[in-house]
Amino acid sequence: MKRLPGIGVSPGLVSGRAVILIQRTKVLRHRIAPARVEAEIARLEESRSRTREQLASIRASVALRLGPDLAALFDAQLLMLDDEMLVPRAAALVRRDRVNAEWAVQQAFHEMSAVFDEVADPYLRERKGDVADLVGRLSMNLRRGVMTPRDLLRDVEEASILIADELTPSLAAQVDWTRVRGFATDAGSRTYHTAILARSLEVPAVVGLHDASRVIQPGQLVVIDGAAQEVIVDPDEELLARVARGAEDHQPAAGAEAERHRPAATADGLRIRLEANIEFPDDLAAARYAGAEGIGLYRSEFLLAEGSEGVGEDAQYEIYRGMLEGMAPGSVTVRTFDVDEDQLVRRAAHPPLTAGWVADEERGSRQGLRGLRLSLTRPELFQVQLRALLRAARHGTLRIMFPFVSGVEQLREARRMIADASAELARRGETAPAVPIGVMIEIPAAAYTADLLAREVDFFTIGTNDLIQYCLAVDRADERVSHLYQPLHPAILRMIVMVRRAAARRGIPVSLCGEMASDPALLALLVGLGLTEFSMTPGALGVAKQALADASSGDLRRMARRILRLPTVGEIERELMHALGRSHVES
Ligand code: PEP
Ligand code: MG
Repeated sequence: MKRLPGIGVSPGLVSGRAVILIQRTKVLRHRIAPARVEAEIARLEESRSRTREQLASIRASVALRLGPDLAALFDAQLLMLDDEMLVPRAAALVRRDRVNAEWAVQQAFHEMSAVFDEVADPYLRERKGDVADLVGRLSMNLRRGVMTPRDLLRDVEEASILIADELTPSLAAQVDWTRVRGFATDAGSRTYHTAILARSLEVPAVVGLHDASRVIQPGQLVVIDGAAQEVIVDPDEELLARVARGAEDHQPAAGAEAERHRPAATADGLRIRLEANIEFPDDLAAARYAGAEGIGLYRSEFLLAEGSEGVGEDAQYEIYRGMLEGMAPGSVTVRTFDVDEDQLVRRAAHPPLTAGWVADEERGSRQGLRGLRLSLTRPELFQVQLRALLRAARHGTLRIMFPFVSGVEQLREARRMIADASAELARRGETAPAVPIGVMIEIPAAAYTADLLAREVDFFTIGTNDLIQYCLAVDRADERVSHLYQPLHPAILRMIVMVRRAAARRGIPVSLCGEMASDPALLALLVGLGLTEFSMTPGALGVAKQALADASSGDLRRMARRILRLPTVGEIERELMHALGRSHVES
């Protein structure tokens, strides 16, 4: 029996025979005759159309099975498929270097990757995985007759466990999950898209195993233990018996979907407010579908994809207004642009890229002139956004939130900017209603001064994605330190409590919008720590609601009190899993 430790991204205990899938295939380079150039480019185009058809059909089936928000993952790929930097660039390389199309596609991908690598933003890095997924599909379609993953999985006799170097969203969407009981991957982190997908599918999964696809042999018996965050190779009889007992107890979570439109509450009636994080105005439909009570985080920097100067005031106003009307009577919390200077500059240098691609590049994660700090140095850009927001405010329930705030000075300056924007509107004869103003608590300095900030804002939103990485000094996308990216670190839990208390003392609401909230076990702990408002990716809302309905707030508070006394992440995790026992989140 051999244990491979990883990162558990979806709970559950399952066993099965391993099916190994290696996605990163090597591509051979060979030269082509001048007369073959046009035929080679035609082959490239043919592969593009086939890829487009496949993605559209995957998208449709994901939309049907899992809802539009997850299907939207494939919109970005469809957009990238038409990016100038991909197929047209590959065609240019075929012409210029007289190389085979497969090689040219890989070259184009390397060039694109170099641009991605420049950016420290973890979400963008993960989107690089989406480009790699797309390139893999293009290459696969270039090699006709090659087995697709679906072919590969079709002949699987018994329930299997999928072990892959990487399981990209488009591949995950093609797997027949009635045959595959769970999966494990070498790559990945908690925030990886596939992890989100796994939780929605309720498939036990462990990621970040580094070399599982090399160590585990096809057909070998393995156990995936999502809660214990490990894969066990050649399990003993005792463990297999435990897996079998768990399978008997397991109640299929068919209720998750029916719960969609019921307000979230714990079993003993503690009301929990669940909102959605969105990036594109189109995501609003997914948020509503999933039963979100509001938009807790609209990442407005995605608007900057529209043009190098950002969309103009009227265009932004229409977008904000549409969202407010679309979400009414629910509130919409718009986070002002969260990009850094380099990202703005680089974006201007590459204007005509696809929306999804550019938008990702705008995502800030660097420590520097980013978020509100950058907005304060770009009053022209910031004033346009503030005016558009204030004008839109009368069409619904708007809240404005500033990202990456590290001190009260920045907040005061931002408030002055809002006053300037209102004054400008008044000069034009337009009146703006008073809008609640809040800050993201995502820099440790903000958490430590939450009592001071609380005096000057109307609400807090805890951004654990950044708070964890800055507090623990761990880049959230760097695989080498991904094991140290620990939402359950005592320092993180203490900070959350500190912020919650500071907000309570001033009587202002506090919500949490980091990825952490979409893990049902962590969500239960957060409720135990006293939080009652969360915002998460729409696809996670159903499972979250179900998990809350299975828990008692009194039990969760007692569990949280015990956990706050524990010194290590390991002990905290064990206590958490033990306390949640046989409830939905662990089964
Ligand atoms: C966060 O930092 O937790 C957050 C929600 O914002 P983003 O992931 O966009 O940085
Ligand atoms: Mg953040």
